Amino acid sequence: MSPLEQTVYLWLEERGVQIEDIAELTFFLQADFFSDVTMEECIENVQTVLTKREVQNALLTGIQLDLLAEKEILREPLQQMIYSDESLYGIDEVMSLAILNVYGSIGFTNYGYIDRLKPGILCRLNSKSDGKIHTYLDDLVAAVAAAAAARLAHTRAHSSTIIIE
Ligand code: MG
Repeated sequence: MSPLEQTVYLWLEERGVQIEDIAELTFFLQADFFSDVTMEECIENVQTVLTKREVQNALLTGIQLDLLAEKEILREPLQQMIYSDESLYGIDEVMSLAILNVYGSIGFTNYGYIDRLKPGILCRLNSKSDGKIHTYLDDLVAAVAAAAAARLAHTRAHSSTIIIE
């Protein structure tokens, strides 16, 4: 694992997010389509998504901005916008696109779905119950889970094609 990737795992953990939490979202997204999908398979796909440099960069940038907002040291008007997770801010969602772009269109649909339902860890991050600011992290975590679900779907479609051939 590269030092950058290690930092991503460390920062996620510091912000209260385990790989299993993200994998649970991936499982939630794919269980209806593949009845035999396992948590292990979801974890593996999340880990693969986290090896991508653009994914790592998006996570580190977003978490850093959340942290600075939490410490109340951003310059206005950004401090207020990120601190209060202002609905018209929208750059947290834009940053998530960098992650979704890696695995194509299935990722976008998956992202929209869990972003609306907010299952599992997304509900916890959104509720601000830990007293932390997760304006960026909730969207980034949803995007990693959605990208992992897209990758899982592509991998499965690809292996079934090989069997047919
Ligand atoms: Mg957000």
